[in-house]
Amino acid sequence: MTAILGAGISGLSAGYYLLRKGLTPSSVLILETSNRVGGWIRSERFDSEGYVFESGPRTIRPKGLAASNTLDLIEDVGLADQVYPIFSNHVAARNRMIYAKGKLNMLPSDVVGVLKTKPPFTKPLFMAGFKDLFTGRSSVRLEDETIYSFVNRRFGREIADYAISAMLCGICAGDAKQISVKFLMKRMFEMEQAHGGVIKGFLKDALFRKKQQDTKAQDSSELAKRAKAENWSIYSIYGGLQTLPIRIGLILKEQMVDIRTDVTFEEIVFDGNQILLKVDGKERVVDRLISSIPSYKLAKHVEKQHPSLSKELAAIPFVDVAVINIRYKTPNLQKYEAFGFLVPPIENLPILGVIFDSCCFDMENNTVLTVMMGGSWFEKWFGTNPKEEQLLTVALEQLRKILGIREPPDSYKVNILRKCIPQYVVGHHKRVDAIRQYIREHKIPLALCGSSYDGVGVNDVILSARECVDGLIGNGFK
Ligand SMILES: Cc1cc2nc3c(=O)[nH]c(=O)nc-3n(C[C@H](O)[C@H](O)[C@H](O)COP(=O)(O)OP(=O)(O)OC[C@H]3O[C@@H](n4cnc5c(N)ncnc54)[C@H](O)[C@@H]3O)c2cc1C
Repeated sequence: MTAILGAGISGLSAGYYLLRKGLTPSSVLILETSNRVGGWIRSERFDSEGYVFESGPRTIRPKGLAASNTLDLIEDVGLADQVYPIFSNHVAARNRMIYAKGKLNMLPSDVVGVLKTKPPFTKPLFMAGFKDLFTGRSSVRLEDETIYSFVNRRFGREIADYAISAMLCGICAGDAKQISVKFLMKRMFEMEQAHGGVIKGFLKDALFRKKQQDTKAQDSSELAKRAKAENWSIYSIYGGLQTLPIRIGLILKEQMVDIRTDVTFEEIVFDGNQILLKVDGKERVVDRLISSIPSYKLAKHVEKQHPSLSKELAAIPFVDVAVINIRYKTPNLQKYEAFGFLVPPIENLPILGVIFDSCCFDMENNTVLTVMMGGSWFEKWFGTNPKEEQLLTVALEQLRKILGIREPPDSYKVNILRKCIPQYVVGHHKRVDAIRQYIREHKIPLALCGSSYDGVGVNDVILSARECVDGLIGNGFK
């Protein structure tokens, strides 16, 4: 029997991949503490009024290997015709803004834009490339550093302050001055360390890389091929992203996989090749365990038997995010045709950014916006226990100041998502290697997937589930 902890998208995917590897459905058990599947993926549909509120992820990227893997899964579970792509020539794909120096600034989206000086930058962006070309390698070999310090060294302070710091707010609600360069720019960092410069490194590496990509691209599904041929920029699924975990959950249930929600864990005891799970007052023996739950939660379960493993798991930090979904019955209430805007931390404002949902997707005659707040700065702005009304007031105030929206919303939802995004701070990758090494050395029948370890996006966690299962069924535990 294989038990999976957590029925978020990674736990469900792990279940799906186990069946694809030939395990019988009756030998797979999924245990979930909440009353639903999907984890942070949660879409609230208002079908009669034509809009959706997403409190977690809303779009997925179609490019790259992890992305192809997700598209393969979506096709496999029969959702290919439900995919809602945004093509690369769509305004929401081309236009991304940052709010800086008192106004909204459109980021360059083509070569011409990179050649011109565009605020908030005081020089054309291509000059950053020159800085990289003419700056030597760091004086000592680095194993890791913050993404802010790397970008500052290679491309200059403005790119670090306005572009990268804002981007990190959008991707993980995190502080570029803490997040590891390997989180987003692992390859660039390796290029610099190996060749003394990012551009130099990529030029030297170009030929080899192309061959490697070509070989791997051949495995893709029809949907992944379509995404490439039609040049998708990002995509969602009709009815909201929650459609995906619900579909996977249904398929697993139809095949008679035991998915239990609302469970209460009392204890996990590792005993040689077996694991004793004490759940809902009953004991259950399983042969192996896949954990897709956040690392800090797993830390509690293993603390008694493996305190040093627990300490490493607990050391991965998480941030709280407030997501405020707002809907106005008035169409086109905000005038910008764009995906939305991000606010770099240097601006010292209480929001991370705003997504223009109704510009990205058809929301009939509604204007739908999502304000993201908190992350690394949650406590600084809102204390430990803010009230929903307080957060809503801040969100509406910023919409008034930045977008000029004065009318009250017709509906809204304030979501306070506690410890929802892990922060891959400097040393994260080394810590994850140490965690996996400990599990191997102590021969614990435990495998890890999910957002705590190998990437925080939907693509990353689905791939992590697949690799976890491949490792389990192939060569032992990853
Ligand atoms: C606000 C927000 C916006 C995001 N936007 C995007 C985006 O636009 N695009 C993108 O690609 N990614 C985005 N992400 C990231 C993406 O949502 C996550 O990577 C992904 O949903 C994580 O899935 P998971 O299965 O690994 O973890 P989770 O979703 O955390 O699932 C874990 C599950 O385990 C359950 N659980 C917890 N403890 C236990 C226990 N002890 N026993 C059993 N079950 C337990 C939980 O209830 C949960 O259901 C966003 C995340 C957030 C929070």
